[in-house]
Amino acid sequence: MEQSYNKLLENNKKWVAEQLALDPDFFNNLANSQNPEYLWIGCSDSRVPANQITGTKPGDVFVHRNIANMVVHSDMNMLSVLSYAVEVLKVKHIIVCGHYGCGGVLAAMHNKQLGLIDNWLRHIKDVYRYHHKELDAIEDKTLRARRLVEVNVMEQVHDLGKTSIVQNAWKRNQPLHIHGWVYDINDGMIKDLEVTFRDTKDLHSVYHLD
Ligand SMILES: [Zn+2]
Repeated sequence: MEQSYNKLLENNKKWVAEQLALDPDFFNNLANSQNPEYLWIGCSDSRVPANQITGTKPGDVFVHRNIANMVVHSDMNMLSVLSYAVEVLKVKHIIVCGHYGCGGVLAAMHNKQLGLIDNWLRHIKDVYRYHHKELDAIEDKTLRARRLVEVNVMEQVHDLGKTSIVQNAWKRNQPLHIHGWVYDINDGMIKDLEVTFRDTKDLHSVYHLD
């Protein structure tokens, strides 16, 4: 028990030494400020670490993760991260990154009661309902789940665009693109779903906030 826990602290010491060997100013530079270009909204799944899979370093990516990379408009945590990233850090890109084999998405496709998390999974069930014609037509369960992962990401990209935080940035002509990606845990590859939002015009007019 203790051994596996202490290993992390030992690893940390090794990592610090490695970074300093590469660049003696590594921590001095990072300690002063952060200037990330990207906000990452990803799944909490331990297999999808934002920095490692994108080859980025500390300071490069501002990160928010939850079960199934959801953008729920009443989630104060997500809204606070989004607000800080867009209004203070002025990130240029927001990336919603889902992943195939997502446990949250798979759980949302079932009818079993799981407890508190059912309330969170219901948001994914809503996504299923919006796209039920396409999804129900896919007979293979694995393929259907993969497609739900994709359309779920697309909906979260939409949901970001619906926020006043993002729309006000666009109104200020702040460069801000919202991307939808899916990571494949089977081969490590990221697929760009090419559902990028760049402007309020990319949203249905009912969501426009003047
Ligand atoms: Zn997941």
